[in-house]
Amino acid sequence: MSEMKPIFKGVRGAPDILPGEVGRWQRVEAEARRILQDYGYQEIRTPIFERTELFVRGIGEGTDIVEKQMYTFEDRGKESLTLRPEGTAPVIRACLEHHLLTRGGLYKVYYTGPMFRHERPQAGRFRQFHQIGAEAIGVEDPALDAEVLDLLCHLFDTLGVSGWKLHLNSIGDEACRPVFREQFTRYVQAKKEKLCPDCRVRLERNPLRILDCKEEGCRSLVAQAPSPLESLCKDCKTHFHRLQELLGLLKIDYSVNEHLVRGLDYYTRTAFEFVNPALGAQNAIAGGGRYDRLVDEMGGPPMPGIGFAIGMERLLISLPQEEQGEMWIGVFAATLGKEASQLALQIVQGLRRQGVRASLDLEGRSLKSQMRLAHKERYRYTLILGDEELKTGLATLKDMAKGDQEQIPLREVVNRLVSQESRGRAE
Ligand SMILES: [Zn+2]
Ligand SMILES: [Zn+2]
Repeated sequence: MSEMKPIFKGVRGAPDILPGEVGRWQRVEAEARRILQDYGYQEIRTPIFERTELFVRGIGEGTDIVEKQMYTFEDRGKESLTLRPEGTAPVIRACLEHHLLTRGGLYKVYYTGPMFRHERPQAGRFRQFHQIGAEAIGVEDPALDAEVLDLLCHLFDTLGVSGWKLHLNSIGDEACRPVFREQFTRYVQAKKEKLCPDCRVRLERNPLRILDCKEEGCRSLVAQAPSPLESLCKDCKTHFHRLQELLGLLKIDYSVNEHLVRGLDYYTRTAFEFVNPALGAQNAIAGGGRYDRLVDEMGGPPMPGIGFAIGMERLLISLPQEEQGEMWIGVFAATLGKEASQLALQIVQGLRRQGVRASLDLEGRSLKSQMRLAHKERYRYTLILGDEELKTGLATLKDMAKGDQEQIPLREVVNRLVSQESRGRAE
């Protein structure tokens, strides 16, 4: 007896997406693409890795992502590279490198794909996870913020996400954020002993990061802290007020959450999160905000912008369970005998080339077990071909959904099935 070799296992936190689940992914991606295009976004595809420096500059030193979560490695040319932990910095990099923003005006792009962060794997959180994200660059008007929020509402409603809620905040700009930072730091400094060890370090290096801490003690401290809304300057106040008016106009429900800040340094003014309360602690299905200084920071012209990212894994668990197997499309050719098999191979080829889902038995099953298989895989029709059929020139076509059957001439089989299938799909 030969010894069995142990099988390989995937890396923890980087799950496979198996054929049984992939249909849901495809449906969400297709719906998102359609809606993004309707709102004027074009797709952009950037590489999965970039120079490490891009993320350090784009996301900010002192952030959890840069300090603890990046998959950074030195390649064979001794260059420090990082698997992308988020999509915005690479997209801005690509827009600047290829001069996509030089015409001025509004520029809208979206992306989809895997992101990588070294986090403790837990429910709804993975080391390789997937995002659908978008960036709209070049406009400061809050009408753009309202449009972005409307897009997400429309997508979640279309997909049937139940119970989602929009949380909204304004975190100020370079004029007023320092005021908030100062007030917040003073408040936290006075209650330093209640902070977790990580946040004590944050207090020294980047105090606003404390707002993102998930530790219970820090959260309750933050809940009492001064709000960024109280220190907004006149321009930021007007911007936020106008955004809320527009959301009213568009009939978009939201609640102001004055402790909402995003985990990245580059956000200014509008910050938002879409949450599904049913998901528990990790309940954000999408988040984003305005980043009016980022393009500038990354070496481009001063240009305002706003973006979001949807977490695919959490969105998928927020979707209603679909009824499996409502398909009943296509043709299965069930055969008896070698000659019939050969004919079936030609018929199936003809059907597939005309866009009909079709299959046949390649494993020498009995006719009965072929019929069972056709039923299990939800083919709408079974075409039965045996010696008798070859002799008479008539095949038996069974409608698996309705249960009735008819004889059709072999010569007409492909054409008949092609038209029957398109009728069947329309039913
Ligand atoms: Zn903390
Ligand atoms: Zn301001």
